[in-house]
Amino acid sequence: MASRGFTTTILHSDRLTKPEHGALHKPIYTSVTYGYDDVQDLVDIFQNKKKGYAYSRQGNPTVSALENKVTQMENGMATIAFSTGMAAISATILALIKQGDHILASSYLFGNTRSVFQSFIDMGLDITFTDATSVDNVRNELKPNTKMVFVETIANPATQIADLEKIGGLCSEKGIIYVVDNTMTSPYIFKPVNVKASLVINSLTKYIGGHGDALGGSVTDTGLFKWSTFANIFEGFKTQVKPEVLGITQIRKKGLRDAGGTLSPEAAHSISIGSETLALRMERACTNALSLATFFGAHPLIKKVYYPGLASHPQHKLAGELFYKFGGLMSFEIDESIDCFAFLNKLKLVIKSSNLGDTRTLAIPVAHTIFNELGPVKRAEMGISDSMIRLSVGIEDLDDLLEDFKTALA
Ligand SMILES: *Cc1c(COP(=O)(O)O)cnc(C)c1O
Repeated sequence: MASRGFTTTILHSDRLTKPEHGALHKPIYTSVTYGYDDVQDLVDIFQNKKKGYAYSRQGNPTVSALENKVTQMENGMATIAFSTGMAAISATILALIKQGDHILASSYLFGNTRSVFQSFIDMGLDITFTDATSVDNVRNELKPNTKMVFVETIANPATQIADLEKIGGLCSEKGIIYVVDNTMTSPYIFKPVNVKASLVINSLTKYIGGHGDALGGSVTDTGLFKWSTFANIFEGFKTQVKPEVLGITQIRKKGLRDAGGTLSPEAAHSISIGSETLALRMERACTNALSLATFFGAHPLIKKVYYPGLASHPQHKLAGELFYKFGGLMSFEIDESIDCFAFLNKLKLVIKSSNLGDTRTLAIPVAHTIFNELGPVKRAEMGISDSMIRLSVGIEDLDDLLEDFKTALA
């Protein structure tokens, strides 16, 4: 059978696993634990000899149904869901990295990722940052003990784009785990497996869930990394599971089970329903975003626009080659003659809020909020100015959005 399209696959994913009564959705299983008539079944599940559920901190059927959808969206091998995107990121590091290892990360990172990396540095991990918009910087900063390279697709808020394909080539040549946070692009407009990512992070809270009603995160193993050669695999797993699933097993056990950032079945259900319209929402958000960016680009009171879809963006060409669309997020700087808070307060439709990837359009002054803790020096390093406003473009009717901005600027 020819492989089906993105939306068809997600819409029919649960049904094809034949839930009871012909249900079209996987039911919400609220059971914390699972009982077995024969103790051997329970033992086999514990020893990874059999698929099944033992305790919901490390696996739940409703959550598995969502994991299955994310795996299909990412063309991956397996996925583990977490309570949040941050839980997915911290569990991945916790599960795979040891003291003495080095992680090379992009200097343009989501603020909380940058912050948790600082906590890991404070605990003794060697993590350094480099401008990942060029593979040369990444190559120059690798160390003999580099075990992982961590990048985002489109960085938030200034929309720098990592040199994704070339970094993938470099990591695969050197046998380094390549982690790509795909939150800003979502698997609908970019599949990191196509640039040789080993692991793909998604904040399910954002585009995949899409409605601002549930938190979640995920890690997908693309199947490309050779875990059998990875020094940090726990001995106990090597005799229990096939070499290709050693990485995902270690993340599930050491990352999810032990650190406990478990996604609730209720949230998994909400995110699953949201994911059915990911492609439709993304199409609309990307179209709205490109029109708004073009409008801001031509407006005399807007000093600078950061959006990969504009020809003026430094990585516009690269973005066009890598991504199917340019995404729903942009930032802009307003003229100094205008008070940026007063401008935001004039918006009637656009909501002053910190989320992104919502169906509704949200705006936030970034230096004063999400990047406030970093201080002015790190903000400058990350290209974040004081008058920068980040806009997560939603799926409203374009004319209404344009009207709101025109009126506020007038
Ligand atoms: C929001 C976000 C995260 C964290 O996700 P949460 O679900 O909010 O914990 C990680 N990476 C990126 C790029 C994000 O935008």
